[in-house]
Amino acid sequence: MIAVLKAGTTQQQIDSLTGWFEQQGLEIHISRGKYQTILGLVGDTTKIDTELLEALDMVESVKRISEPFKSANRKFHPEDTVVTIREDIRIGGGNFQFIAGPCSVESREQILQVAQAVSASGAKLLRGGAFKPRTSPYDFQGLKGEGLALLSEAKKQTGMPIVTEIMNINHLELFEDVDVIQVGARNMQNFELLRELGRVHKPILLKRGLANTLKELLMSAEYIMAGGNNDVILCERGVRTFETYTRNTLDLSAVPMLHELTHLPVIVDPSHATGISRLVKPMAMAAAAAGADGLIIEVHNDPPRALCDGAQSLTPEQFDDVVKSVNRILEAVR
Ligand code: PEP
Ligand code: MN
Repeated sequence: MIAVLKAGTTQQQIDSLTGWFEQQGLEIHISRGKYQTILGLVGDTTKIDTELLEALDMVESVKRISEPFKSANRKFHPEDTVVTIREDIRIGGGNFQFIAGPCSVESREQILQVAQAVSASGAKLLRGGAFKPRTSPYDFQGLKGEGLALLSEAKKQTGMPIVTEIMNINHLELFEDVDVIQVGARNMQNFELLRELGRVHKPILLKRGLANTLKELLMSAEYIMAGGNNDVILCERGVRTFETYTRNTLDLSAVPMLHELTHLPVIVDPSHATGISRLVKPMAMAAAAAGADGLIIEVHNDPPRALCDGAQSLTPEQFDDVVKSVNRILEAVR
């Protein structure tokens, strides 16, 4: 980190500032110019509040040279992280996975039918929401504990590990049989929740917030990793823009950019990104071409009657077609 001091800063002021940096365990390199003094700070600067520093009278500007995320940073961990969900199911480092299932678990029949169908098409993980973050309090909120029990039943029947969203850390004891815990877009910056998930020994699927930058996504991953849980899978699910034809705007450049910045696996959710079932296939193929480590796709046995997100849900037949097309892309880009 570099701090440029204002012209006219006294030696006494410099001494007090450098003394404070030294207390934070940093090494300081001072370079004195004719008009300005520049401080180069070496060491772990992640705890330094750049805005606070910039607000000091004697400071003209501050620039970070390295990113504020350490654990997630590829610079300190050049090889890809491979998240092992089960010995034979890994994500990252060349391992690509399809995660599929309904937006919400609605009934025993529904989840079992969808699970069997997506498994037959090649999905290795089953998704399904039991606790649903709905915009309206009057909409279907999920089957909650009963939904989790139905997911367990589908897991038993198909052998597929399950991925489902947590909204409240107090529900954690209900998630014992859950294989991958999802943090939804709306909770990406629920820092208390992230911190608690850092202590959990299960992979976390962290979705990008509706209006969050990649740096913010990585800082949220950092919250989980700082607690000791390094099994974080990042998910690009579209962000809010001025466009209204699609539910969100899929930021596909996030995939190669995140691969540069972090060693964590990156998957794409073309369902929430577009909100329209017929756009899921082209976006899924594009995500695979862009280097995603997997896809999470909503599939429903009867989309027009879905209790949540029917417009973006694929039928099992459509999902089967998507898997085949994506596999052709993967072969072509490998
Ligand atoms: C979901 O996966 O069903 C979901 C609610 O996604 P998001 O948090 O990305 O909106
Ligand atoms: Mn959904």
